Amino acid sequence: MKHNIDDTVFSVINAIPNPVIVVSNDKLQSANNAFLDFFSLSSIEEFNAVYGSVAKLFIKNNNFFSPSDIKNNEYWTDYLFLRPEINRIVSIMNSDNELIDFEITLKKIEDESEYIVVFNDISIYISEKNEYEYFAYHDHLTKIFNRQKFDELFLKAFENKKRYGDTLSVILIDLDHFKTVNDTYGHLIGDLVLIAIVGIIEKELRINDIFARWGGEEFIILLPRTDVNGAYIKAEVLRKSIESYVNKKLPSVTISAGVTEVNSTDNINSCLKRVDEALYKAKEKRNNVVKII
Ligand code: GH3
Ligand code: MG
Ligand code: MG
Repeated sequence: MKHNIDDTVFSVINAIPNPVIVVSNDKLQSANNAFLDFFSLSSIEEFNAVYGSVAKLFIKNNNFFSPSDIKNNEYWTDYLFLRPEINRIVSIMNSDNELIDFEITLKKIEDESEYIVVFNDISIYISEKNEYEYFAYHDHLTKIFNRQKFDELFLKAFENKKRYGDTLSVILIDLDHFKTVNDTYGHLIGDLVLIAIVGIIEKELRINDIFARWGGEEFIILLPRTDVNGAYIKAEVLRKSIESYVNKKLPSVTISAGVTEVNSTDNINSCLKRVDEALYKAKEKRNNVVKII
């Protein structure tokens, strides 16, 4: 194996679980076992035959570094070495076609064109971060938006309505006698009912409608470019679909809904107060929709 680090050092490097390589002018000179294992390759020669250059490994993904970002003819190793401010996160596809994210560290071998590059797998942290961000805005049980995200989206839709004069309506939904469902069938079945209801509602919504879990067994829907009559019709469609939904494994439930339209004197709170009043009225009968203009 031809490289400028002595064999003892290289056997130490070979024992490292992280992929480690020596690169010269974008050509792979040496690689430890972890690197070859990652690609299910048996030798550096095989790597060079398949990939040709190390730069080809890096796949453009997210805002990660990719050698295709380099506008001049610099080698990516020199480019990164001279620019410590550039993020060193890269995506590489393994032999199972999975994208794995690595942070790379780069050390220039003195007075040589060679670099030692160490790959540190950070995929787990990235997916944990994504999951964390996802559940900051989504409900854990039903995976639709949570109330926090709804508040943010309502504010945006509300400002758009004021600016462009579009219509905007709101439906507030509450499951009827849901406490009895839990008491009779158990909380777990109750959870499955909530998930099923969300599925039924989602099927009836348009791409721009905003659907969120408002609280326990309450859901809220924002309908852009929809007036109160359109929203009432939609709420009735939802009520009937849920009433007629049959699933042998789940008890039947019904919903009540309040409907209103954002008017020119509204702020968000006045509008929410009105839709809540409409729902309260609907609850006098249950399995019922009431609109307040
Ligand atoms: P109403 O027709 O007046 O709305 O009656 P209700 O029983 O639906 O209303 P109530 O407010 O008395 O009870 C709401 C129930 O919803 C009680 C609570 O345990 C249940 N609930 C809230 N969140 C969840 C959840 O995530 N899973 C389950 N299984 N039940 C939930
Ligand atoms: Mg309730
Ligand atoms: Mg209820």
